[in-house]
Amino acid sequence: MEGSEGDVTVSLVNHRVDLPEEPDADLQNEESFQHGDKTSYNNVPEPDLGFESLDYDPIFNLVFENSRKDLQSRQLYGYTGLTLAKWSITILIGILVGLVAYLIEMCQEFLLTRKKELTQRIMVNGLMLSFIGFASFSVLLVLVACCLVLFWAPSAGGGGVTLVMAYLNGTDIPEFFQFKTLVTKIIGSICTISSGLMLGQEGPMVHIGAAIASLMTWIHGALPTRKKTQPSHLRRCCKPWQAKALPFDLYSDKDRREFISAGTAAGLAAAFGAPIGGVLYSLEEASSFWSRKVMWRSLICCTFATMVLALVNSWEFSTSLPGSMSFREVQPVFIVRDLPLFLVTSALTSILGVVINSAHAWLAHMRPSSSYKVLRIIEACFVTLISVTVMFVLPLCFGQCMEVPAQKTPSGTMDRHYWFRYTCPAPNTTAGVHYYNDLATLFFSLPRQNMQELYGMHGDAETEFSIRSLGIHSLSALVLFILAYGIATPGGVFMPAMLVGASFGGFLGRIFQRLLPSAHVQPGLHALVGTAAMLGGFLRASISLVVITVEGFGGVDFILPLIVAIVVSNWVAYHFHDAGAYEADLERIAGVCFLQSEPPRELIAFSAADLMSSNVVCFHEVVTVAEVLKVLQTRRHNGFPVLRHTHSDTSNGGGKFVGLILRHQLLLLLEERAFVEIDPQVLLHTQKYAWENNFSTNMQFLDHAMRIYHHFHYPHHRYLSSRPEALADLGVDEIVGAVNSSNSKPGNVSDDINTTADAPKKVLALDLRPFMNRAPITVRRECSAQRVYIIFRTLGLRHLCVTDSHNKVIGIITRKDIAMAQKQGRLSKDKRFQHW
Ligand code: ATP
Ligand code: MG
Repeated sequence: MEGSEGDVTVSLVNHRVDLPEEPDADLQNEESFQHGDKTSYNNVPEPDLGFESLDYDPIFNLVFENSRKDLQSRQLYGYTGLTLAKWSITILIGILVGLVAYLIEMCQEFLLTRKKELTQRIMVNGLMLSFIGFASFSVLLVLVACCLVLFWAPSAGGGGVTLVMAYLNGTDIPEFFQFKTLVTKIIGSICTISSGLMLGQEGPMVHIGAAIASLMTWIHGALPTRKKTQPSHLRRCCKPWQAKALPFDLYSDKDRREFISAGTAAGLAAAFGAPIGGVLYSLEEASSFWSRKVMWRSLICCTFATMVLALVNSWEFSTSLPGSMSFREVQPVFIVRDLPLFLVTSALTSILGVVINSAHAWLAHMRPSSSYKVLRIIEACFVTLISVTVMFVLPLCFGQCMEVPAQKTPSGTMDRHYWFRYTCPAPNTTAGVHYYNDLATLFFSLPRQNMQELYGMHGDAETEFSIRSLGIHSLSALVLFILAYGIATPGGVFMPAMLVGASFGGFLGRIFQRLLPSAHVQPGLHALVGTAAMLGGFLRASISLVVITVEGFGGVDFILPLIVAIVVSNWVAYHFHDAGAYEADLERIAGVCFLQSEPPRELIAFSAADLMSSNVVCFHEVVTVAEVLKVLQTRRHNGFPVLRHTHSDTSNGGGKFVGLILRHQLLLLLEERAFVEIDPQVLLHTQKYAWENNFSTNMQFLDHAMRIYHHFHYPHHRYLSSRPEALADLGVDEIVGAVNSSNSKPGNVSDDINTTADAPKKVLALDLRPFMNRAPITVRRECSAQRVYIIFRTLGLRHLCVTDSHNKVIGIITRKDIAMAQKQGRLSKDKRFQHW
């Protein structure tokens, strides 16, 4: 008679009990748990898996269904306000990203230009003095950025694109989108870029866009009042806001993912003034999940970001967008017969991209780890000093003094701050001749301005930039870039790579110009092709790069050479490395499991059974608090299958697979004291029979469950998750005390039930049925490993239960399991077909 245990009384108790005098040592020290230790299929010790995964797959539980119904009943003529809220937040993200991009660009421009002017002025008193001034200012800036990162917000270091990609792929990076990280990233990138290091702001802008987007999804959570019922010991660790005031939430990982994809796109769009390029970049590189909705959200976000940037900029300057790099007066003309030379430029430049990747990988092992903070600071200051020294010494030794071209005199249309005199003769005002050092100009100016000038190169080899200066600049910038790429300050790789590519392309153009005087080579075009080829070889991006370059430089006529450059560079680079810079970095970062879009070929011969962990720790639908605590204390797993005993079950641990409960849900239930008080005898029966009737009629319980459900998406529960402190923070002792005091004698509740005849009247239990995911995805053990990979990748899954032909859980696979399997080569060849 299923579900007809008439004497079952399910009462909701919200226990707030006093701490017991003596904590239950027996329970806490309990080491062995009968439901099985994790035995990995090949006995490899469980690796330190680093960051936790995200739950992109929605939890379809009873409370979710009910809350949807509740939402619909509250709607006004079919309108809930959710769509409006989402679009408003999207627009807000765009506006904020645009403003921040403007702020960074302006600060950077202001600081670099003033530094250059000051250096020139101090130079009257001696070169050494200006070097010392320049170097100390640069080191100071880097010191500020470095200390902020190392001592306040460690996840703000580096470009951030890699970790945004990891997040969007399903790995949670703690503190990565917090306010302090955002502030550090903004201040840090202004300092780093203004210091003269070979790093850019595009990577940080991507992170900043994503962080703004993530923070915006919190906005409505901060509106309602404080949660009054929360006991003081919980306030330390728990988010004190209640999200009940609004009928929806944007906390689910899936919703946040959409906004973060849009924020990422907006960040890049603002950095380059390229809205479509931003969307394409998010699609091609950053986001692992894409849909029409995300595309629209990204496009709107990018459009607002670039519009705000253009608007603020036109008030201030009335020149081009700060992010954009449009051509100056002279625009080269593309002629098809140039293509063969472009092939050469693309191939050679992409090899430079490969060199950067290899050197970076090699240096990554030599750099001090971030736990040695002082060493990291010394490293950053040292690299800055080398950069400044190179900037001063090379122009002095190899730079050439040239006349500022007539139409580009300081009073002319050209930015008068651009051409840098350095040690060249003073201007001859009577003749109207100004001099500049070409190499110093390249080193001391903003990369954006440099690229504009390089693309505009059209004269013969002795005008604008000499062959020698271009060669020296591209190679020394390459070395400085490799050194700076990986230090502990915020800073991206996009712009420096572009600059090195432009400079090297221009250098090759100049060489062709000299070697083939009759070919009418336009070195500016080679610089443009070099930029694209460098990005293709270094980052392996494709369409988005073409569009960013075309939008950024306003050169729609050059689409063909750009495509050629991207294709050739990708092809050439592929022969050296499998992956581009971002993928290689993702491989290197410990703890990040990145699932590529295609399943690895090696998985073809394996099945789900080869990937799964067996001896799965499961719970019953109604489970004693003591048992839950024991499992949470001794196991670090994040997901537990939920079983229902059936009449046919004779084995102790078996049962019908009915759902999946996550660790953070259990923690929340414990925190909320969502206990039911039941007779242990009844519990014994409930483990034998389903409880459908009692549950579905208990509306009071469902109401309470819904209130709890509103907290399910609070991110703080994720950060508690599998850490042992999490349980302590939730007042486990207190809960254990509650359990004990509800029993006549201390000890394990379930043992009591099983062994004692005159068992205590009531025990505390958790009813998991309203909260568990009632429709978790499962696969049969025979399912091919590649298909398992595709399921994980396309659905953003975190857990996948493996069942046998009787729907019994025989194993569990997490996204990390599958990522680690390919990373560590855990699948040995003799495992093949073992389970088939
Ligand atoms: P994440 O912590 O990000 O969710 P993970 O792979 O570390 O990913 P955990 O839940 O921490 O997942 O589990 C760690 C290991 O234990 C994995 O290899 C997984 O296959 C296995 N595992 C997960 N859940 C269970 C379970 N309920 N019973 C037995 N083994 C499990
Ligand atoms: Mg884990």
